[in-house]
Amino acid sequence: MLTIALSKGRILDDTLPLLAAAGVVPTENPEKSRKLIIPTTQDDVRLLIVRATDVPTYVEHGAADLGVAGKDVLMEYGGQGLYEPLDLKIANCKLMTAGKVGAPEPKGRLRVATKFVNVAKRYYAEQGRQVDIIKLYGSMELAPLVGLADKIIDVVDTGNTLRANGLEPQELICHISSRLVVNKASMKMQHGRIQALIDALQSAIDHHA
Ligand code: AMP
Repeated sequence: MLTIALSKGRILDDTLPLLAAAGVVPTENPEKSRKLIIPTTQDDVRLLIVRATDVPTYVEHGAADLGVAGKDVLMEYGGQGLYEPLDLKIANCKLMTAGKVGAPEPKGRLRVATKFVNVAKRYYAEQGRQVDIIKLYGSMELAPLVGLADKIIDVVDTGNTLRANGLEPQELICHISSRLVVNKASMKMQHGRIQALIDALQSAIDHHA
C-alpha cells in the first residue's frame, strides 16, 4: 500500500489533477467526504486527509509514504527527515513581512507576529536584527492593527487580504510552492513504485506548465 498525505483546500484542489494524470483518482470527493482515509482507483494507493502543518509529521514517521506540503510548512517544520524530490509548482505564493501602510520603522526591538516562528527567527538572525516573535495561529493581519505587533510574517498571494486590513507587503522572504515529500525508508523499500509516481507527476507538471 502507498499512502499519500494531503491537506484540504488549495493543495488538494491543485494536486488532484496531477494525481489523476498519474492514474490515481480518489473513489470519493475528499473535499466533501468526512472520511480521513480515502481509497483510490488504484487498490494499493490511498489518500490521508490531514492538516497542512501535519503533513511532514505523517511522512517523516512513515504513517504516510508520501505527502504534499507547502514550502512554508516544510521550512517551519525543519529537519532533514524527509526527501523533497519534486516541486509541484502549485499553490504558489510568497512568504513576506507586512506592516501598517505608511507606519514608520519602530525604534528599538521589532515585534513580529506570525505562525512561522522558526522561519521568522532564522530570517531576523541572518540580518542581525533584534526581534520579539509573537506566535499566532491565524488572523495575523489583526496584530499590527491592535498594537500586538509592529509587523507580521505571512504567506501572500494577491495581497488582497493585507490591503483589506490596511497593511502592505514589505520584505520578500522567499517564493513558496508545494512540494512532494517522501519518507526516507519508503523511498528505499518501495523505490520502483515511488519513482514511477514521481516520474508521472513530473510529466503532468511539465504538461501543465
Ligand atoms: P491573498 O490572495 O494574498 O489575499 O491571500 C489570501 C490568504 O490566503 C492569505 O492570508 C494567506 O494566508 C492565504 N494564502 C494565499 N496563498 C496561499 C498558499 N499558497 N498557501 C497557503 N495559504 C495561502
